[in-house]
Amino acid sequence: MKKILISACLAGERVRYDGKTVPIGGWIERWQTEGRLISVCPEVAGGLGIPRHPAEITGGTALGVLNQTAVVTDIRGNDVTDAFIKGAAIALDLARTHAVGAALFKEKSPSCGVHMVYNGRFSSDLVPGSGVTVAWLERNGIRVFSENETDELAAFLNCGGDL
Ligand code: SF4
Repeated sequence: MKKILISACLAGERVRYDGKTVPIGGWIERWQTEGRLISVCPEVAGGLGIPRHPAEITGGTALGVLNQTAVVTDIRGNDVTDAFIKGAAIALDLARTHAVGAALFKEKSPSCGVHMVYNGRFSSDLVPGSGVTVAWLERNGIRVFSENETDELAAFLNCGGDL
């Protein structure tokens, strides 16, 4: 049975910057019951606390952060890039250790966003792009789905059956 690397907040862990949880259900609840989920919060793994100031990728994209041409800053202007890079590395290590079949990450996060992230101006505006951990996982050949794509992930892993 293929494992799934998942954003810890999607698996019900209280790790978000604001300390709140995300309700779980549907496929995620089933995969949790099956013991498929390997959870990681890249920001906490990288050394950031709970709660923490919201952060955004600024001056470029997640690939730019990996290539050291962009940074991640929090709303107070602190450079938190190193924590984001460290968290991405830990997530990839976990993915490899457990030989996951794919990953399921939380949309819009500067670490975990899959298709959309905030624009770096803390204006609540979204732009196409991924978070730092997702860019690192994808660069290393791991397929990443968002929480809005659980049916696609189920098909990808050939989970079968109804919810
Ligand atoms: S970094 Fe990822 S796992 Fe951690 S709270 Fe943000 S979206 Fe959830």
